[in-house]
Amino acid sequence: MYGSLAKTGKGHGTDIAIQLGLCGDDPVSFDVNKINEKINEIKISKKLSLNNHQQIDFNPEECIHFLFSETLAYHPNAVTFLADYKNGDKIAETYYSVGGGFVKKEGEEESGNANIQLPFPVDNANGLLHWCMMTGMSISEVVMENEMAWNKEAGIRSGIINIWRVMKECMYRGCHAQGILPGGLNVKRRAADLNNKLLQGKKYTDYNSWIHCIREGGNDFKYTLDWVSCFALAVNEENASFSRVVTAPTNGAAGVIPAVLQYFAVFCEGNHDNKIVQFMLTAAEVGSIFKKGATISAAMGGCQAEIGVSSAMAAAALTECMGGTQRQALMAAEIAMEHHLGLTCDPIGGLVQVPCIERNTMGAIKAITASQLALQSTPDFAKVSLDAVIKTMWDTALDMNSKYKETSDGGLAVHIPISLSEC
Ligand code: SF4
Repeated sequence: MYGSLAKTGKGHGTDIAIQLGLCGDDPVSFDVNKINEKINEIKISKKLSLNNHQQIDFNPEECIHFLFSETLAYHPNAVTFLADYKNGDKIAETYYSVGGGFVKKEGEEESGNANIQLPFPVDNANGLLHWCMMTGMSISEVVMENEMAWNKEAGIRSGIINIWRVMKECMYRGCHAQGILPGGLNVKRRAADLNNKLLQGKKYTDYNSWIHCIREGGNDFKYTLDWVSCFALAVNEENASFSRVVTAPTNGAAGVIPAVLQYFAVFCEGNHDNKIVQFMLTAAEVGSIFKKGATISAAMGGCQAEIGVSSAMAAAALTECMGGTQRQALMAAEIAMEHHLGLTCDPIGGLVQVPCIERNTMGAIKAITASQLALQSTPDFAKVSLDAVIKTMWDTALDMNSKYKETSDGGLAVHIPISLSEC
């Protein structure tokens, strides 16, 4: 591993992910409770079953290298795989993790969507708005039409509902898991305590009865605010303990979208499949526009590219679902990003814990505030467009010192030692 991938590799569990990946394990379906067992097995046996098929010698201590001081030119998140064949042949391939779970292989052209003609091609927010105005469709309707160039509507809908199911399971698990997060920083999990405090001893047996109990508490401002934080904390505590989250648009920022969508579902009567689909489609399009115009990789743009983008995605989606116009939805995304500009990435010890876990609560609340502001505003009077803020974010990313781009070389990472005293 090179560059940022090496510097935060231990804390992010990249070495674990690489070993499971080599084994051919699927991040969507692998039983997360078996991760430690499997990694220990490889460590002790010094053998790994390549693609769960071909056993090879693999001593993680010798085979995995964190090259902290080397960075490849194309992208700071780079990894090279080297293999020696028994007949003496050698092979080396380099891959770049370019953000949001996307991986690019060195020497390979951008993967092949070139032959697919979208009915409404979108490169930026203005282009998206153009199609909305021309057709009268909402953002989510435009996105659905485009998605149908690849898949049938029923499949798209069921895929989205499945993503929401994983998000819900993650929030529920995180709200019921106690203990200290791994990595040595001794961060105590807080979502479960907050969950208990807010529910004041109410009894429930499963996810649905849990949601029922939450709803029974009403919608007082502080109560609602606490729940939004609780949902976000739950997801990111799960992420920090190597459980399963939905990348949205990254793992470090995976709590913002579920927290805002759960807020909508529980406190705004938004718990209908159609609304969930509408929310996700809108959020995804905004994330895609950020990826095209700037970046969704903290190694390229700092935390504005993670929490900032997730907040903008959630803000636009919530606005559309709350009945806002297309312009109001884009305005909400702009507001959310405008107030994350310049946000640095400086995770202590390279662990996705401090400031990351709390930062998701901030991203979620800012998304809700941005949405409310946009719903109460006339976008014609807005001074900054979404495209202008995306350009500003990218310029800020280019100006940002590399210490603040997921390297743990600056900020909180250098001011707070990982081994804090117990007192
Ligand atoms: S500081 Fe932000 S960008 Fe960096 S790892 Fe944490 S959540 Fe991700």
